[in-house]
Amino acid sequence: MNIILLGAPFSGKGTMARKIVSDFDFVQISTGDLFRENIKNGTKLGKLAKSFMDKGELVPDEITIGMLKNRLEEKDCDRGIILDGFPRTISQAEALENMAKIDAVINLEVPFDEIRRRALGRRTCSKCGEIYNTATYKKNTCQKCGSPLFQRDDDNLESVNNRLEVYEKQTAPLINFYADRLFVVKNKKDPEETYKPVKNFLKGRI
Ligand code: ADP
Ligand code: ZN
Repeated sequence: MNIILLGAPFSGKGTMARKIVSDFDFVQISTGDLFRENIKNGTKLGKLAKSFMDKGELVPDEITIGMLKNRLEEKDCDRGIILDGFPRTISQAEALENMAKIDAVINLEVPFDEIRRRALGRRTCSKCGEIYNTATYKKNTCQKCGSPLFQRDDDNLESVNNRLEVYEKQTAPLINFYADRLFVVKNKKDPEETYKPVKNFLKGRI
């Protein structure tokens, strides 16, 4: 089974994907993570992507679609995939239709003011990728692995505003595109509570 996680930036897609992967045998594919890996390794693709990412713009479709297509050709994807951060445009969604059969789309609904509140407080573990927020977590080292937390280059005010705008214009229309396969989840304060209906939904489908 292949699924997509949809939601605005800071809706908690990454956190949700990590929970799903710890309970079910999916391969998590995050285009944001793939780009960041390329940046870290200094690849040509990484250099190209960084110029868009730092401004909060989408990396052009042909680059993103090509990168995802390569990833989907790897053998581990046979287990079933969970896509987080892709697709983000209608044309990416149309391209995906020819690359994989998508069985379900989970849409994380978070009120816009909550998203803004979270945006600038996000901190990420430099080693294991765990996500925290300064509103609820005061330390600057990871609870899981002890490594230092950092603020992503693109989590600055200008980039955040831009990403939210891009989301409204280009990504939100995907909710209609996937209307026939959509499972809507309302955000709760506690990520574990938000996850519960998702877990039950997936259990019933597998
Ligand atoms: P967030 O959801 O917090 O914005 P991501 O890690 O998903 O963060 O993405 C970070 C950046 O990577 C995006 O702002 C964009 O520049 C780029 N990116 C990731 N996925 C895509 C995609 N499917 N299409 C175009 N650009 C993408
Ligand atoms: Zn960590």
